[in-house]
Amino acid sequence: MIIVLKPGAPQEECEKIKGILLKNNFQINEIVGVNMTIYGVVGDTSTFDPRLITVNDWVEKVMRVQEPFKRANRMFHPEATIIDVSGVKFGGKRLAVIAGPCSIETKEQMNTVAAAVKAAGATLLRGGAFKPRTSPYSFQGLKEKGLEMLTAAGKENNLPVVTEIMSADKIEEFVDCVDLIQVGARNMQNFELLKELGKTNVPILLKRGLSATIEEWLMSAEYIMAGGNERVILCERGIRTFETYTRNTLDLSAIPAIKKLSHLPIIVDPSHAAGMWWMVEPLAKAAIAVGADGLMIEVHNDPENAWCDGGQSLKPERFDNLMKELSEIAQIVGREL
Ligand code: PEP
Ligand code: MN
Repeated sequence: MIIVLKPGAPQEECEKIKGILLKNNFQINEIVGVNMTIYGVVGDTSTFDPRLITVNDWVEKVMRVQEPFKRANRMFHPEATIIDVSGVKFGGKRLAVIAGPCSIETKEQMNTVAAAVKAAGATLLRGGAFKPRTSPYSFQGLKEKGLEMLTAAGKENNLPVVTEIMSADKIEEFVDCVDLIQVGARNMQNFELLKELGKTNVPILLKRGLSATIEEWLMSAEYIMAGGNERVILCERGIRTFETYTRNTLDLSAIPAIKKLSHLPIIVDPSHAAGMWWMVEPLAKAAIAVGADGLMIEVHNDPENAWCDGGQSLKPERFDNLMKELSEIAQIVGREL
């Protein structure tokens, strides 16, 4: 942290500031210029609130050098982390592809989609049992019954499963039957849920919040990691911007940014970003081209009659075709599908 004092700061005020820093066990490197005094503060400032310094009128500005996230920070963990989800690796050379319907509807639907995505090369099966819907009158998910259908379809087709958790009271149940627990965009800052998930040892798929900055997102990962569960996979799924043509705006720049800031794997969900099936294909390709470690894609055997998000779901044939095209892009960027 660097503190710049205003010209002519009285000695007494300088001592007050230094006192706060020393009380927090920081070392101070003082640079006294003709007009200005600068303090280079050394120590773990990640949890220190710089406003404790800026409240002093004689402080011109305070600049953070260290990011507030530690466990998720690449600076302290230069190697990229590879997370194993029941045999499927996230973050290695091979890309991970999660596919399946938005919501679990029936046994037949789950089995049909699971078989189709498996044949196309998907490595994990998705399906929502507890749905975070904007309207309380919309379909809320099949809950426990849905979980059963998902895990059965996963077993039948030899695919690990991922599904969204909405509250901490379901953790025990999820830990027993789910390979990867998804925290949805709307719960990215549900800190009590994140803390409880930090006590488990199940890998967590942490989606980016609708209006979350990259730093806020990494701080949410930090919540889970600080509890002892370091197996966090990030998922960019589009953010709110002024644009209304698409459901969200896919922030492709988040992928190289996360790669620079963090060692955690990151995948992209082009389905929830675009909100339109025909845009999923080009966005999925772009995601792989910019370095994503995988994808999450909604696939439905009958999108016209889907109970949720049919408009952004790919039919199995289209998904199969996309996988073939993605494999070529993967090769160009030194990955495998
Ligand atoms: C989902 O993946 O089913 C979902 C609701 O996504 P998000 O949290 O990104 O909106
Ligand atoms: Mn959906």
